[in-house]
Amino acid sequence: MTAGALSGVEIWDGERLLGAGGVAWADGVLGEIAVDPGVPACGLSVVPGLVDTHVHLDVAVGEQPADSGWALATGEADKALHVAGGALRFARNGVTTLRDLYATEPQFAAARALASGVVPGPRLLAYGPVSMTAGHGDLFTPRGAAARPPVADGVDACRRLVREWVRAGADGIKIYTSGGILSLGDEVGWRNHTFEETAAIVDEAHALGRRVAAHALSAEGVDVAIRAGADSVEHATGLAAGQIDALAAAGVPVAPTLAVHERILAGDDPLLAAARRQTRAVVAQRDAVFAEAARRGVRFVLGTDANGRLVPYTGAHAELRRMRDVLGWSAERTLVAGTSDAAASLGLGGSVGRIARGYSADLLVVRGRPWEDLDVLDPSRIVAVVAQGRLLHGTLPTP
Ligand SMILES: [Zn+2]
Repeated sequence: MTAGALSGVEIWDGERLLGAGGVAWADGVLGEIAVDPGVPACGLSVVPGLVDTHVHLDVAVGEQPADSGWALATGEADKALHVAGGALRFARNGVTTLRDLYATEPQFAAARALASGVVPGPRLLAYGPVSMTAGHGDLFTPRGAAARPPVADGVDACRRLVREWVRAGADGIKIYTSGGILSLGDEVGWRNHTFEETAAIVDEAHALGRRVAAHALSAEGVDVAIRAGADSVEHATGLAAGQIDALAAAGVPVAPTLAVHERILAGDDPLLAAARRQTRAVVAQRDAVFAEAARRGVRFVLGTDANGRLVPYTGAHAELRRMRDVLGWSAERTLVAGTSDAAASLGLGGSVGRIARGYSADLLVVRGRPWEDLDVLDPSRIVAVVAQGRLLHGTLPTP
């Protein structure tokens, strides 16, 4: 059933408080929003479901940490089920739109099942990766592995891989304009693809109506992403103060992925010793530069990089609190970055991320006023989650 109604709650529409009232939906789409100043506040409010623009759903499988090593060895069919299950875990914690930024067949299959309602759940966008040999996207797979995800070297191969992902069902393309931290034997300072290759990937994706998300940890990588016309910058951790105005002027959304780097630094896993060394270097200037970037209008949006291991599928709430603190934003400004503007950054601004007539019925009912206090988004205070018109978690309050 994709119809329902909610009344006697305060409504925050993705940008501002409308007041107390009710919302109703049919076929998964919101109807007229009724605001009535006479309605007594019952302590509950409804806000748009959160939008996490950067997740990885095929790394952890099952509920237990011990299950996670299994992810490397399991088959595609199992992975598709774990991807859908992981998406549902996000949804139970208030995230009703997700973008997987290393998607292959299991994500494409899960995204189709979620979109069609075969599996009732959140909306999943799946972006196929285009990495060079020895690039960040390639080095996640150990060098001796028998099966590797495809890579592309040279302009023609780059265009071809974009076309293959689109044929397979990708909603967009993930690229890399610098090395990374968790990939094996990688260095953040390495160039990934030549500028011509990167520009060709972006051009080809755009020609086929697909957006491009660019992983960039170095200042040079951020510069290449902007110049090549990428539609979002992921991490931007090594952003230099001198780049802030160009980034703000381009209006390109940036997912700062604050928590994942803090989790890497806080851990003591000997396998992550190299990752800690590189993380320490890239985050050294991060908070001061990001705070200045937020002041000068850089468009930061929610992106947790959650993979169920370093950052749990419950991590959106903690990431928003870190964004508020590091960026110096109010709770309300931060919530915009986790709802309406995050949806707009994915190209869904006309249908997702707002409580307004004609928008998807993706709703988060909580006890309290999250636009004043982000702690209200803690999973323990979630009363109900509706995704694409279906109640996925909790109970809708009755008037
Ligand atoms: Zn990521």
